[in-house]
Amino acid sequence: MYDVIIVGAGVVGAHIARTLARYQLDILLLDKASDVGEGTTKANTAIVHAGYDAKPGSNKARFNLAGNAMFDTVCRELDVEFDRCGSYVVGVSEEARATLEDLYRRGLENGTPGLELISGEEMRRREPGLTEDTVGALYAATGGIVDPFALCYAAAENAVANGVELRLETEVQGFIWEGDAIVGVETNRGPFRSRWVVIAAGLWVDDLMHEAGLEGFTITPRKGEYFVLDREAKTAVQNVLFPCPTPVSKGILVTPTIHGNVMLGPTAEDIEDKENLSTTAAGLNEVMTGALRLMPQLDARWIIRSFTGLRAAGSTGDFLIEIPDEVQGLLVLAGIESPGLTASPAIAEHVAAMLGEAGLPLVERPDFNPIRHGTPRFSLLSREEQEALIAQDPRYGRIVCRCETVTEAEIVAACHAPIPARTYDAMKRRTRIGTGRCQGAFDTPLVLEIMAREYGVSPLELTQKGGASHMVVRRTKEVAE
Ligand SMILES: Cc1cc2nc3c(=O)[nH]c(=O)nc-3n(C[C@H](O)[C@H](O)[C@H](O)COP(=O)(O)OP(=O)(O)OC[C@H]3O[C@@H](n4cnc5c(N)ncnc54)[C@H](O)[C@@H]3O)c2cc1C
Repeated sequence: MYDVIIVGAGVVGAHIARTLARYQLDILLLDKASDVGEGTTKANTAIVHAGYDAKPGSNKARFNLAGNAMFDTVCRELDVEFDRCGSYVVGVSEEARATLEDLYRRGLENGTPGLELISGEEMRRREPGLTEDTVGALYAATGGIVDPFALCYAAAENAVANGVELRLETEVQGFIWEGDAIVGVETNRGPFRSRWVVIAAGLWVDDLMHEAGLEGFTITPRKGEYFVLDREAKTAVQNVLFPCPTPVSKGILVTPTIHGNVMLGPTAEDIEDKENLSTTAAGLNEVMTGALRLMPQLDARWIIRSFTGLRAAGSTGDFLIEIPDEVQGLLVLAGIESPGLTASPAIAEHVAAMLGEAGLPLVERPDFNPIRHGTPRFSLLSREEQEALIAQDPRYGRIVCRCETVTEAEIVAACHAPIPARTYDAMKRRTRIGTGRCQGAFDTPLVLEIMAREYGVSPLELTQKGGASHMVVRRTKEVAE
């Protein structure tokens, strides 16, 4: 019997698990995917939003502000790269001046610190590649960029290090009931009983709410398509640049990533299929057109990848975080679309407080350790540090991914980490193999070979992302032993 079962190991569920791990509780974190962060958390714009655009008084505004303020501490504790580089909303038409002023006023109402309206001339001085049509901008000093997956993974890993049990490939298919109380979950791997069930299931939360008898709330998948540009593009883009927002989205951004690439997107298209992560010619065309409107000199030859993320757009338009009156033992987090990544650490604090108020005993654990140390990223170290690591472990001297300078030692470390990288995609997100210009063309066979060796399995058994997504189907050559 667990005290709390958390359904969904995205960035929200992972932070809730880590926050609750501070207390003397038995906690189970479940996800149906083969890795943590495989849902919306792995594919978004990765901005730590300043909080000027959410509707004043909404949960989005409240948790955006509170979450943003926690990022320096959380990322320091979890050893996650975070750059509080500031962000800009850029106006490129006369009508945009009014929008920028509205956003500025809204930001002041929300309590967003560090906002400033600047002239078009000043904006172009700060970002010389911007269109000559730039009429002004809203600068938000507290905006930032982060690696969303690294944040999710690090929070989950720290939760596990502090005693949380993690079960992947475990899908919640129903609930265990005692009268009108939920006392656990039914999964593809059997039942698990608990005092509380917290649903942080992203796109699928409405299905689970209906399963719990809670009707009315629906999630619409809102598709966002992106381009990722080569690091070379970073010479042309210095800042996080939003266009003026539309009623359904923040518009097509041009933004540096924490790893030194540039990202363009996303589109915003409501669809039906919660699994549809396809990119389309029309969507990507819209991305490029939108990006060129801000930065006319962007070069399509810099594109190295496209991808899609799905927002879990809720029917109320706001984050729903509640313990419903109709069902005991259940806490629901629904409609956690943007700025959910930014809000996630603050949402987790709020969830812990709600559970405490509802009677869950929150007794601090004296041995809770909030600090996590990630594996050193070889490419970010100085020459001296690199040489010291190679002297310690020669596998740091073997470069497997040439584009991103990822070493064999980093791949081996990810195989034996507290949450092992069992799939190719998990390895990619942990180490950045295959994310550079060649997109894995050179390193994939070698990575699979190392993973097979470390896990003691055949490369034929390895998958891209669990299930039947095998990467190698048969041997074509006999290998001399
Ligand atoms: C295009 C786009 C751009 C965005 N940009 C930003 C941004 O720049 N800044 C920002 O702050 N936010 C942004 N967001 C929002 C942010 O990405 C999300 O709010 C956040 O990732 C939500 O995390 P989550 O943990 O709630 O959901 P998810 O990451 O989707 O996690 C839910 C998990 O639940 C699991 N699950 C579902 N059903 C079950 C079940 N039955 N049993 C077991 N497990 C289950 C899934 O496998 C999944 O791993 C963006 C989102 C999108 C799509």
